[in-house]
Amino acid sequence: MNPIAENIRRVQEKISNAALSCGRAAESVKLVAVTKTVEPEKIRNAVEAGLNCFGENYIQEARQKAGALADCDISWHFIGHLQSNKAKYAVPIFDLIHSVDTFKLAREINRQAEKRGLVQKILIQVNLGEEESKSGVQENEVLGLAGQISELENLSIQGLMTMPPFFDQPEKVRPFFRRLALLREKLAGQQIPGVVPNELSMGMTGDFEVAIEESATLVRIGTALFGERA
Ligand SMILES: *Cc1c(COP(=O)(O)O)cnc(C)c1O
Repeated sequence: MNPIAENIRRVQEKISNAALSCGRAAESVKLVAVTKTVEPEKIRNAVEAGLNCFGENYIQEARQKAGALADCDISWHFIGHLQSNKAKYAVPIFDLIHSVDTFKLAREINRQAEKRGLVQKILIQVNLGEEESKSGVQENEVLGLAGQISELENLSIQGLMTMPPFFDQPEKVRPFFRRLALLREKLAGQQIPGVVPNELSMGMTGDFEVAIEESATLVRIGTALFGERA
């Protein structure tokens, strides 16, 4: 018996129900299974149970796992803080980098993507809680940064990501999700050439249903699938 198949089924059902309850199609929300600290064998179980999109926070760990699971059809997403000097390792592995928050980092990812002749998809990470401990560009700098990044030919901005302040009641997080959705509308309204910000990466184990009600298209879920991290 696949030990996490049941968790996956339960999470997917909750995602569908949350989407349907607010008039969205279940397929409009993609599950990014967060696998930091999760061993490759468990990820393989998750693939066998039907998942194909996984989020990693650390480059070194991700490189090892991508190698160990090279035979699986996996779309890897990078969701952690990325240092510019690690961009060269990130570009070959990740289909989507959720955490671009400076022009310096964007420029380096662009350079690495150009070297490999590909266009790297990215999200701009926004720090809505103005928390110093968290990565992300400030809300009022998002449009400016997007404009700058749009000039880089080997990057494609797909949308926005946020990691809101922690609250144990999901309702308290709702205003942050709503702000990110509004910010995406604003960004779309700018009609920056080449920028079609369809994606909103927000919502984790404790609050993904609220995030879906507020228009999340990518939910990043770890604990509900793989259990508490050590
Ligand atoms: C760890 C992590 C998650 C998943 O958190 P859970 O509460 O375990 O679902 C989501 N997003 C980011 C950026 C993370 O670092």
